[in-house]
Amino acid sequence: MAPSQITIVRSRRRKKTIQTKYGDGRLWIYLPAGMSTKDEQKWIDRMIERNERWQQQKRTLKKSDTWLLQRAQELNKKYFDGALDFSITFVANQHSRFGSCTSIDKTIRISERVKTMPSWVQDYIIIHELTHLLHPDHSKKFWEIVNHYRYAERAKGYLIAVGVGVVKQEKESTDEDDIFYDM
Ligand SMILES: [Zn+2]
Repeated sequence: MAPSQITIVRSRRRKKTIQTKYGDGRLWIYLPAGMSTKDEQKWIDRMIERNERWQQQKRTLKKSDTWLLQRAQELNKKYFDGALDFSITFVANQHSRFGSCTSIDKTIRISERVKTMPSWVQDYIIIHELTHLLHPDHSKKFWEIVNHYRYAERAKGYLIAVGVGVVKQEKESTDEDDIFYDM
């Protein structure tokens, strides 16, 4: 954040508390009057840093279906010559799955939990589900395509680590799949 977007307010009524708020496109930092310049700078730096973390979190959570479709189309172009036809949306109710694909009506659903994952894992999940449009199962041909993605193995490891415990209970379903089935 540029310094011009920050307003420092020194308040005599304030004894020890430091407060920040975000409004009118600016970050307001309220400090007690009489702080030493050194302490002021320390707190200002800390508040700016904290605010940036919050903004980053908000951006992550705002990732929308529009973003998801765009990303999936880029991967469609890169890995499938843009040949795939599909719809893709985030869903909130997939607690035990990261993604699923119904190949009959070409719909892909990605769990909202994926929004906070690293982008190379997000890409893997999207590629995995895109590949199911061609191969609904986890056949050798399926993995041949998925493994073109250079971080496929790493992403599988990441997902196993965060998904331990939800794998087994999902084995029953047939039309949709959990990406852990055969890993
Ligand atoms: Zn799968």
